[in-house]
Amino acid sequence: MTKSTPSVFSRIIAREIPATIVAENDKLIAFEDIKPQANVHILVVPKTDQYSTVSELAAGDPQLLAELIAMTQQIADERSEGQYRLIFNSGAEAGQTVFHVHAHVIAGDLGEGTLV
Ligand code: 5GP
Repeated sequence: MTKSTPSVFSRIIAREIPATIVAENDKLIAFEDIKPQANVHILVVPKTDQYSTVSELAAGDPQLLAELIAMTQQIADERSEGQYRLIFNSGAEAGQTVFHVHAHVIAGDLGEGTLV
């Protein structure tokens, strides 16, 4: 994907496609995964589309990564008593399909053998 093609997450941020948004501020948005793999499965996404992977984000804007992690904890505090699995897929061979960095917040009944 070239930078001229907005990611599906940029289109959600722009309200061009719908999503169930559960948290938002000026830098971050969180919404329900369209294909949940547990009863809590929320994606937390920086609004900037500058970073594809968590390591790029860590190198480029560590403060934003810290704020993203804080939002994942806030969501888990609200929905799963603060307990959760935090997943960043990095690279296509690791299962990444959307190259706009995002954290999966997974909690509750994890089903059988799923790891996002
Ligand atoms: P990845 O595999 O890149 O780590 O995760 C991408 C996630 O985005 C997947 O879990 C997938 O279900 C989710 N996803 C893809 N397209 C959409 C969409 O249009 N809306 C929402 N809410 N989630 C999406």
